[in-house]
Amino acid sequence: MRTYSANGIVLRRIDLGEKDRILTIFTREYGKLSAVAKGSRRPGGRFGSVSEPFTYSKLMLSSGRDLDVLSQCEIKESFPHIRCDIANIAYGIYMLELVNAFLDKRQPNPDMFDTLLSAMYILESGTDPEITTRFFELQLLSILGYEPSVDACIRCGRRPADGRIFFSSSLGGIVCARCDAPPKDSVKARAAVASYILALRRAEPHKLKDMRVPKGARRDLALILRRHIRYQLEHDLKSVEFLDVVAATEVNCPPV
Ligand SMILES: [Zn+2]
Repeated sequence: MRTYSANGIVLRRIDLGEKDRILTIFTREYGKLSAVAKGSRRPGGRFGSVSEPFTYSKLMLSSGRDLDVLSQCEIKESFPHIRCDIANIAYGIYMLELVNAFLDKRQPNPDMFDTLLSAMYILESGTDPEITTRFFELQLLSILGYEPSVDACIRCGRRPADGRIFFSSSLGGIVCARCDAPPKDSVKARAAVASYILALRRAEPHKLKDMRVPKGARRDLALILRRHIRYQLEHDLKSVEFLDVVAATEVNCPPV
């Protein structure tokens, strides 16, 4: 049985029998993989805390015939601040699910790993979880080659002016109000949302704390990115419903 070490973040866990769990772990070295954490369901079990979602650890794994098995671990960061706030948990779980949905198993992507880890630290630092998530979504889409095109109208090439724009999921970009008949799958948004997307793309992670985004632009950002991601994945993520409940409670907005 081959053993190997990896640095990984737990994306999700499912119970296996009464004592064990299967973890989905995103590792920097080997990409996404599944491994059994034996005894992690037992109270005080050896791998109990390492099997919590968000946990960032150095892991020792043994390759098995069907599933790899966790043999040792050293927790590097457990992100306690994320775990003690309902909004942080909701947005954090959504980011983990987003990575899980977009990545195939055993496809290393160190840039994506570093971006996820960085987003977890940004969330841990007390930065607005919604802004952190929009920033992370845009970084993920850029790394994976699914970046939405918002710099200029897809039809006429003009930069969006004041007023309204239309975002089309199938075109992956915006159509300005001056161009006739927006595509049928479009959603209407304020033109200013394009500049917020560009600002978030270029933002330094440590400056996200100072970023001020008004409610209307937040709603448009959420709407555009939700539609764009849904189109790319061909489904919504499970955590989105929970996110909507939390977001509606926090900012008193209807779900997008
Ligand atoms: Zn146009």
